[in-house]
Amino acid sequence: MALTSTLHVCADRLGLLTAVLCAAAAGSKDLVVFYETVQALARSAITLADLPEILGITLAHEIGHLLLGPGRHSATGLMRADWSRGDLEDAAKGRLLFSKEHARRMRAELDEVTLRSESR
Ligand SMILES: [Zn+2]
Repeated sequence: MALTSTLHVCADRLGLLTAVLCAAAAGSKDLVVFYETVQALARSAITLADLPEILGITLAHEIGHLLLGPGRHSATGLMRADWSRGDLEDAAKGRLLFSKEHARRMRAELDEVTLRSESR
């Protein structure tokens, strides 16, 4: 099975909370990022991170879910369920990262996907 995915960056017409930036589409490998919500967070006073940085970490977080599974969050770092002001400050400095364990598991999943696609 090849790892294919579709990214949807769409307007947030659902009135979701600021913390809800994205979601995996149920039953698929598609990612949905609510661009207006990302914009609102970038404009808020709680972060020094700008729009490209917040969009980048949002996409990285969702790609993490593709490889780690839905609901797989960590207590710290890029895969936290809710980013704190400190997390967003780390993002602005390029320091909001995957944990070593999540990074190891994502590499293993990518290796597995590559092996499966090469054996077909
Ligand atoms: Zn998440």
